[in-house]
Amino acid sequence: MKSIKESFVTDAINIKTYPLSDYDNIVVMFSRERGLIKGIAKGVKRPKSKLGARMQMLVANKIMLKNGRNFDTICEAQALNTFNKLRANLDKLTYSMYLTEIISSFCTDGDEENTNNEKIYELFYGILENIANSQNKTEILLNVIKFQLKFMSLIGLGAELKVCLKCGCKLEDGGYFSVASGGVVCKDCKGGSDIYIGLHKKIREFLIAQQNSQINSKTQYDSLVDENFCNKCFLLLKKYTDSHSSRPARALRVLENMT
Ligand SMILES: [Zn+2]
Repeated sequence: MKSIKESFVTDAINIKTYPLSDYDNIVVMFSRERGLIKGIAKGVKRPKSKLGARMQMLVANKIMLKNGRNFDTICEAQALNTFNKLRANLDKLTYSMYLTEIISSFCTDGDEENTNNEKIYELFYGILENIANSQNKTEILLNVIKFQLKFMSLIGLGAELKVCLKCGCKLEDGGYFSVASGGVVCKDCKGGSDIYIGLHKKIREFLIAQQNSQINSKTQYDSLVDENFCNKCFLLLKKYTDSHSSRPARALRVLENMT
């Protein structure tokens, strides 16, 4: 349902942009108040556009949108954070693009009643800032893992990592992860099935700690883990997010093709 108000103001992060005409672009954004929204950036490709660089991917703005028949028009944008450090590093940029793909594949346009929009916005903004300030790939991955776990919880698909999904017993060892169900089962419930991925106890404990930690705080594990460990956890969670998504994330293919 579209609001009857003629214009509205919101904080929003640009996640995708595509051409509409010679001078205009459509910008897809994730906004604090209304979740996923689209707007026309009129004249953005003209040399003297007043919107200009603020309409680039991964820029957070306070924007004013005017309601239109098919699309809302972005009339004003004031940059809140340009996340410049993200653009200076290919790993940072690629993993940030991966976050935008997760958001665009799980969130839908017009879901403005969703009470978690603000929390998703805060998570996205906070993790982008952390990735921008990361010193190495391990730090980037720690933030992406945190995003994967927290985002899935916010959209109601959170991973169950503490108790067995089938019998409800409290797990003592690593357990077995089901990508399709997004959680762990115990040894007895796993039986002879091969759809589960055996988890090391340390991995399960690490993931629980990330799931429960604040966006800006570190866990006791962060200084103990290395890039290889984080990458394994990241790939496991990616299988789980991909399995719930209509289209698997593609951003990382750039990196995969370079190694
Ligand atoms: Zn069980």
